[in-house]
Amino acid sequence: MKKSQLIAGNWKMNGSLAANEALVRAVVAGLAGGGAACRVAVCVPSPYLAQVRSLCEGSALELGAQDVSRHGQGAYTGEVSAAMLEEFGVRYAIVGHSERRQYHGESDSVVADKARAALAHGITPIVCVGETLAEREAGQTASVVRRQLAAVIDAVGDGLARIVVAYEPVWAIGTGRTATPEQAQQVHAALRAQLRAATAQADGVAILYGGSMNAANAASLLAQPDIDGGLIGGASLKAPDFLQIIAAAH
Ligand code: PEP
Repeated sequence: MKKSQLIAGNWKMNGSLAANEALVRAVVAGLAGGGAACRVAVCVPSPYLAQVRSLCEGSALELGAQDVSRHGQGAYTGEVSAAMLEEFGVRYAIVGHSERRQYHGESDSVVADKARAALAHGITPIVCVGETLAEREAGQTASVVRRQLAAVIDAVGDGLARIVVAYEPVWAIGTGRTATPEQAQQVHAALRAQLRAATAQADGVAILYGGSMNAANAASLLAQPDIDGGLIGGASLKAPDFLQIIAAAH
């Protein structure tokens, strides 16, 4: 059975104690008034997890992290483990965001390890896949996202039913250039087929779209049969925009 859609904000490296408080209070107030039909989360920078956790308390807003270590513990300076995130009530962790793949050299196998580490602590990994513009123009979109997802499928075993996938074409992230609903649906359908070949529960795995989703284009993207929500960067930093996207979800 299909779950309700998931709208997850990715704040990236933005925020401050004051700005977070204003943003989260506005989102929580908006959710309380409207009774969102979808699930809603915000993935925040690690230092703010405790703050945002307490701001979310008693609301429908769930907490997410933007990354997780593939290691359990030890001499990994700067890393944050899944066990640590679990202690802070984190429900979701983004893994394999294109900015991590691009700027931190994360390979498919590192991303797969991170997904497995999150699942081991009851945290839902939001596994990002997506092609660059050069890859799209070379006709490689399907093979790139298939390869990225295959690494995770191989690593997580039975945990596959508990992951979330986010299709984020790299050329659409932060650029204001969005995939058309048809372009996105085509890739989502291919990802769904790949999941179906691996698990009987594929239809329950949410496949989010991410890449310049905003208040104006959310409804047409979220109406596609294989788009189960959105991963929202820039627009998640403005409460009215984020709430409008949430209102477009079901
Ligand atoms: C993202 O970073 O995951 C993202 C989708 O960003 P934006 O919405 O700003 O394109």
